[in-house]
Amino acid sequence: MNLVLMGLPGAGKGTQAERVVANYGIPHISTGDMFRAAMKEGTELGMQAKSFMDKGELVPDEVTIGIVRERLSKADCDNGFLLDGFPRTVPQAEALENILTDLGRKIDYVINIQVDQEILMERLTGRRICKSCGATYHLVFNPPASAGACDRCGGELYQRPDDNEETVQNRLEVNVKQTQPLLDFYQAKGYLKNINGQQHIDQVFSDIDSLLRDLK
Ligand SMILES: [Zn+2]
Repeated sequence: MNLVLMGLPGAGKGTQAERVVANYGIPHISTGDMFRAAMKEGTELGMQAKSFMDKGELVPDEVTIGIVRERLSKADCDNGFLLDGFPRTVPQAEALENILTDLGRKIDYVINIQVDQEILMERLTGRRICKSCGATYHLVFNPPASAGACDRCGGELYQRPDDNEETVQNRLEVNVKQTQPLLDFYQAKGYLKNINGQQHIDQVFSDIDSLLRDLK
């Protein structure tokens, strides 16, 4: 069960990844975790990645790809893996094909959780946080009893600058631009499976589950 998980911010990737891992026992491999583990283990590639990150520079592809290769070669990936956050570009996707060929494997599915941008905007801009106690709310999914005030302490609710409409819109646009060539690449390979992410999270997982059951 060799999987790549894709979806725009707010599509619910994290929740679905947790469920896939819990139900199928394959490791969830996110780019951040992978980097942190390589640095902690002090592998040569981990140290190289660290030196770029310490300078505030992007980690070059050859280092990232090397770390992915090391990670996917570990024993816990013998029955499969769920990659999340890698690949980000077509050259990285091509490198992943090479890694898997060397390991005698191939991707089974690229699961793309689809949600309209308007709905993502609603999900991503609705968060409000209490200034006094830090409690979090969502205007649509978890609204406070009285608008603008914290249920717990009556404190004032505010929106983090990261959550404002312009920032979120930009983030989504950058992501769409970046991922479209990747989706086209995987579509052409026949790996791409689009999942409707505009349903209840249980139904989203049920759709993913029926896809994966065939692989067992
Ligand atoms: Zn509060």
